[in-house]
This record gives sequence, C-alpha cells and structure tokens, in this order.
Amino acid sequence: MSIENQTFTEKYDLLGCIQCGRCTGGCPVTVRAELNVRHFVDQAYDEGKLDELARLAEIWDCTACHTCAVRCPKGLKPLEVLIGLRSMIVESGKVEPTVRDALQSVLLEGNPWEKARAARTDWMEGLDVKVAEEGQEVENLIFTCCTIAYDPRVQVVAKNMVKLLNQAGIDYAFLPEDESCCGSEVFTIGEEGLFEMLVEDNTEYLNNFNAGRIVTLSPHCYTTYKTHFPDIRIPLYHYTQLLDELVQEGSLSWKGELQKKIVYHDPCYLGKQGGIYDEPRRLLKSIPGVELLEFDRRRERSLCCEGGGGKMWIESQSTEERLADTRIKDARELGADIVAAACPFCVLTLEDAMKGLGYEEEMRVAEITELLGELIEA
Ligand code: SF4
Ligand code: SF4
Repeated sequence: MSIENQTFTEKYDLLGCIQCGRCTGGCPVTVRAELNVRHFVDQAYDEGKLDELARLAEIWDCTACHTCAVRCPKGLKPLEVLIGLRSMIVESGKVEPTVRDALQSVLLEGNPWEKARAARTDWMEGLDVKVAEEGQEVENLIFTCCTIAYDPRVQVVAKNMVKLLNQAGIDYAFLPEDESCCGSEVFTIGEEGLFEMLVEDNTEYLNNFNAGRIVTLSPHCYTTYKTHFPDIRIPLYHYTQLLDELVQEGSLSWKGELQKKIVYHDPCYLGKQGGIYDEPRRLLKSIPGVELLEFDRRRERSLCCEGGGGKMWIESQSTEERLADTRIKDARELGADIVAAACPFCVLTLEDAMKGLGYEEEMRVAEITELLGELIEA
C-alpha cells in the first residue's frame, strides 16, 4: 500500500493508542486552552468525524512541543494527529490571513516573515564572514535560519557565531542568500504539499555542498532536518554541540567573567525533540563567574514557551496566563539574573513576557551566543 493511500487511522497509528491519557496529562497548554490531545487521538479513529474535529479551534493551540510524544508509552506522536487535522483546514483554504501570508512567503521568498530573499544575508554587512559556494569543500557549513537572518532581535546569534568561529580559527562557511526555510513551521501548520517541496528542494540543495557537517543555529532547523529529511547525506549538528566541542578542546576561551546567576531554559526543539541537554549547560558553566541555576521543570519536563507549532502566526484565544509568563515568573523566583536559551523563538517569547511583566530592570533574556560573543578574547 502506498503512503498516499493510507487512511487517517493508519497514517497516525491510531490503533496503537491505549487511551492511557499520559499525552494530555503532560500537555502544557491544557492549563490555558481546551486542548485534549488524547480525545483527538480517540475520536479521529472515526473517519466520519474528521471534518468536525478539524473545525475545533483548539487544534491551533498545540505548540508542537512534543511533550505528548515523549510521554506516550506506545511511541506515538499524538500531536501529529492535530497536524493532520490542521492540514485539512489548510487544504480547504480556510486558514487565518497571518498563516496564509506566512505560507505564501515561504513559497515565494523562502522565509515565513514576508521578507525579500535578496535581503536574507543583509545581516552579514560589515562582518568578516566566510560564505559558501556550491561544491566548495568546507568542514562546517552553517545554516542560519529565517528568523535569525531577518529578525533584528536575534540576528545577534548569527553575528556572534561569526565572531566565535573566527576566533576559534576553524574551517566554516555560512550558506548564501539562496538558503531556504527548513519548513519547521510549515510542517506543524499542516501545509503538507509545501513541506514536501521543501524536503525535496532543500535536500538537493544541501547535498550539493561538499561539507563535513551542517551546523544549524536554530533548534527548529536542526530537529526538522534530522526528523523529516532522511536523504540529507551530511551529518547535522546544532551550534551548541560545535561550540561545546571547541571549548572542550581549548579552541575557544573567555575574556573576563560574568558574575551572574543564569537559569537555562531547555527549548522543546533542542531538548525533548533533539535530545540535546548537556552541551548548552556545559557552555554556560564554562563562563567564569556564572552560577548555573535549574528550573524545576527542566530537560524533558521543560515548560514550553509557546513559540513553536506555527504559534508565531496564530493568536491564542486564551486569556489565561501565557506559559512564557509562567516561565519568567519561575526564573524570578529562583533569583536568576539571566534566562538563557538556545533558540530564537524562545528568546523572542520569553523576552516579550519579561518586558510585559515589567522585569526588564532586574532580569535579562539572552541567547547563549549573545553571552559568549560578549566574552571572547579580542
Ligand atoms: S499517551 Fe499515547 S497511548 Fe496514551 S492516550 Fe496518548 S496517544 Fe494514546
Ligand atoms: S505537542 Fe505539546 S502542546 Fe501539542 S498536544 Fe502535544 S503536549 Fe500538547
């Protein structure tokens, strides 16, 4: 049987579900939305109910954090049932204008932010940065990410990576402006056709480089490529793995110290989905003066910031406290001076929460590269 002819039940292995409820029990958005993912897995078995289920507003509350998948004793991915229902709505064309525009922008410009492809590498201006050419042999090929390339708040991730890699003196090159979106949010929004196109095009594009490894700056790109792009021939790394390696071997060292209490927020896409927990912590601990604190909800229990699953383009209807607000309040209670993350979406959502709560004077949200970039030797 071809994959195209699979029924909904077969595609999401609904018969494997034992209705234990561990998925819903762990789902972080249940505290602020009606979403009951176990119920959807149960009801979607009846093909006659799919249209009705797809019309329920709560399918758009899922952040694709993967807590339900991590907790499922049967190894299922309950969230993908919700994505399957979203894809029915996408196919019918009845999506929010913000979602429609983001998808169209990926199709036309290779990014969901409605920015021109030609401006993708504008962040490089004035920097001593190496840019890759197709066919060129390079040890570390850097995949920047749409959000990091265009959003002025998080462009610092790419800019500081340039400084750090130059300082380490390793062989690297950033992808040029024809780098395209990895499709992380396209996948979770449920635009299956566009995502398939990205898988095909990006696989061919990336395999054309003679690279030792691809290093992604965002965990969304890292996990999406690892999970959904089986034919990429080049090993994939997240930047925290590369920088950790460079610090361990002594190629990077820090100037001065940072006498701060830092709490590390595990991004869902890096931790729960990518299995990377230790490298970011080792990087932060390598900074002289840093006292590393831990959230109670950490590692695979980390609280989602609600930045993923297409939520940057989908306004929540809930009036309950945002999870990012909860996270920042938890950090404040711990006495943290800095909340550090290794993900552009986490930085944007957590910083927004910190400002909204009025904690700007006493606390800072920072991407790990921001802190490290401030500490490298001149
Ligand atoms: S955790 Fe898995 S087996 Fe249990 S109800 Fe959810 S999907 Fe079904
Ligand atoms: S991915 Fe996260 S938000 Fe979505 S259903 Fe699973 S646990 Fe809930």
